[in-house]
Amino acid sequence: MNIKMQCCGVILLVVLLFFYIRQKRISLNTQRAFLQAVFVTLGCILLDILSIIVLNHRDIVPDLIVKFICKSYLASLVGVALCGLLYVCVDIYTKKSDYRKKTRKYDLAACVGMLVIYCLPIYYGYAKDGKTVLYTYGASVVSTYIFAVGLLIVNFHLMKKEKDRINPLRREAVRLWMLVWMGASLIQFFHNSLLLVGYMSAIGMMILYLKLENPESNLDRQTGMFSHSALMLYIGQLLGKEQKFAAAALVLNSPLHENGHSSRNRAAYMEVLEFLLHISGALVFKNMEDEFLIVFEDADTARDSVGRIQERFQAGWGNGGRYYIKFNIIFIPDVRVVDNAEDMLFLIHNVRQNSNESAQGKLVLADRSRVEQMYRDRETEKLLERAIDEDRVEVFYQPIFSTKEGRFTSAEALVRIRDENGKIVPPGVFIGIAEQNGAILSLGKMVFEKVCRMMKENDIRKYGMHYLEINLSVVQCAYEHLAEDYIKIMEKYEVLPEQVNLEITESASLEAKAVLLQNMEKLMAYGVRFSLDDFGTGQSNLNYIVDMPVDIVKFDREMTTAYFENEKAKYVMDHAIRMIHGMGLSVVSEGIETKEQFEEMEQLGICYIQGYYFSRPLPQQEFLEFVRERNGRNERA
Ligand code: C2E
Ligand code: MG
Ligand code: MG
Repeated sequence: MNIKMQCCGVILLVVLLFFYIRQKRISLNTQRAFLQAVFVTLGCILLDILSIIVLNHRDIVPDLIVKFICKSYLASLVGVALCGLLYVCVDIYTKKSDYRKKTRKYDLAACVGMLVIYCLPIYYGYAKDGKTVLYTYGASVVSTYIFAVGLLIVNFHLMKKEKDRINPLRREAVRLWMLVWMGASLIQFFHNSLLLVGYMSAIGMMILYLKLENPESNLDRQTGMFSHSALMLYIGQLLGKEQKFAAAALVLNSPLHENGHSSRNRAAYMEVLEFLLHISGALVFKNMEDEFLIVFEDADTARDSVGRIQERFQAGWGNGGRYYIKFNIIFIPDVRVVDNAEDMLFLIHNVRQNSNESAQGKLVLADRSRVEQMYRDRETEKLLERAIDEDRVEVFYQPIFSTKEGRFTSAEALVRIRDENGKIVPPGVFIGIAEQNGAILSLGKMVFEKVCRMMKENDIRKYGMHYLEINLSVVQCAYEHLAEDYIKIMEKYEVLPEQVNLEITESASLEAKAVLLQNMEKLMAYGVRFSLDDFGTGQSNLNYIVDMPVDIVKFDREMTTAYFENEKAKYVMDHAIRMIHGMGLSVVSEGIETKEQFEEMEQLGICYIQGYYFSRPLPQQEFLEFVRERNGRNERA
């Protein structure tokens, strides 16, 4: 028997361990399981070598010890198979308690296997000279095969059954390792003098290392921080432990202020990296180009550490500290408020989307109430998606009264969705979410199509209506094909363009405004007219009226209520009305709830009144009946 192959296996594993231990790494459960497998494999090969040595020196070593060592080697083979199985389980059962529960039976099976191996007899297979031992055989060896292969089969089965819960790369690597190992065992079983198993298990470990367990694969090469994928694994693992831990997302809103020499900027950048890489008591991950995630296993001291990070970023960087970085920090004091790593990132994304410019340099707390809001938003998102798919989108109409004509001459179309239980969900709940995820484009189109269909089926002029007002979201306004899409829909339903009035609000960005203007031009050339909605809220200013080719300005409820509550607002509104009328535009006053408010508005010369005083938004049929009946009699009477 010679030990060359086994020695090669040992060298291979020692080289692997040398590189592995020197590399920067996080303590992931999978990596720990891998390391355990490497050590058990190394032990197995060393026992293999030892058993060959003692077999070659049976003359001086007592037979009992020789057999014990041979059996120990066999038992260690079962150990290697068990390690392979545990390595897969660590990935599948991320919760510590689940892992313990599920793996107990495998540990037990391996222990029984080892006991059986030690209890059953083992014999030596000799070479032709009748002296040199070439291999061992007997019930002990057979039971080794049974238990080791049994564990491998369980492993195959588990990976198949839980394929959605295991990293596909890991599945592939483990499969390859097992195939190499099984192939070697099979060859050794039939050619028992070919001692391949030990060496091949070292090769198997090398495969795992190269494909998956090289700690460098968890590093971001550019910054030397841990990568996004490492973050996902690490958070999943910490959540599995069910112990409190904290995390902070450092969001750099501007890379670095470009107010100087670029090499100095680089100096600032390097200083930032240096600082982040040396935050004590925390691991830093690069989650995105502009976002770093700092994870604190000790949640109690995290708040102070985050405060220090905030303080440091409030000061400058680079030579002389002349470079300031716009940033904010989203702090999650107890990450257990989310269910998994994906949700934690979603929470951060959610907070980022909802925090405005004023959050610069601030620390935003992402606590349970934020998470609850996030989960609610997600539910709403799903609800909206289903409502669009299943056509549970409805349009209500709120009549608008013309003070000049003394009757209802238009109405505003307002979207609602109906949930699975038939309950109406108002737009305030879902419009913002639809704008964020882009669903507003299809939702808005759907609403417009429904309004056009309604106009085709009912000649609104017969009801005294001149036109209907339909809301456009800023997201729709910034959509380049909006005009074409809407014109196509109007053509399809043969709707007269002058019966359509689109309500726009102020766009946030200049680009969006440019696209909006193009859309408006095309639609106006077709004959559609526009209103400016929400005037008098924070979202509007007088400039916008000057710039935008609108016919109507809609005063928000906020503005009309302020009119009745304070003198300054009264003054502003008086003048705004005069100005708007001076520009030849009409005014709609929204949110009029009482007779007094109505009379006051009428006296101010406001042409159109909309509000609960007349009617709430009504379903189509009720709305048509309402205007038919009310336009039949004189309102002021
Ligand atoms: P908005 O366009 O300013 O619509 C007026 C809102 O004020 C409506 O709320 C209406 O029901 C409410 N309102 C009218 N009169 C009164 C009143 O006297 N008192 C009170 N308290 N409220 C009154 P609604 O229907 O909940 O819609 C809220 C917002 O959702 C709308 O504000 C609009 O911005 C948006 N929205 C509604 N439908 C659509 C749509 O189809 N597309 C888009 N993009 N947004 C829509
Ligand atoms: Mg509106
Ligand atoms: Mg409005």
